[in-house]
Amino acid sequence: MSDAPARDEPDDAAFLRAWLAARDERCPNCRYVLRGLTATHCPECGLALVLRVGLEKPRQALLVLGVTGLASGLGFHALVLLWGVSQGAPGSDLVPLVLGVITCGALLPVWTCSARHLRRVQSGIRWLWALLCFVPGIVFFLVFIAHV
Ligand SMILES: [Zn+2]
Repeated sequence: MSDAPARDEPDDAAFLRAWLAARDERCPNCRYVLRGLTATHCPECGLALVLRVGLEKPRQALLVLGVTGLASGLGFHALVLLWGVSQGAPGSDLVPLVLGVITCGALLPVWTCSARHLRRVQSGIRWLWALLCFVPGIVFFLVFIAHV
């Protein structure tokens, strides 16, 4: 058995009230100043508030790197695809671009949802996953260049 108090026990609410009694912290949802709050919910938006330990600076470099790789692949392929369609390019020439748009577009939400799970993985492997986000855009672009 653990001696640690379970989450949301009365002590947590007392700590939260004590923390907010002398600080001008803002609601993370609506930015309402919570100084002197006596409840555990924001009076402005109703958000349930908790006091917890967190990182001083959120580590989001890998998330941003992966999103950059996939979003750049998606945007580049979409623009070249639109340009190719406007120029009347044959459909078979545009297949790699369509596949690039579909692949990058499908992987983008997968990456954003799963990137936070990578925090527990070894650092080198995390960076490898983030750099792999550039691969679909590069591969489909090279296939497009070789095909045209
Ligand atoms: Zn609020």
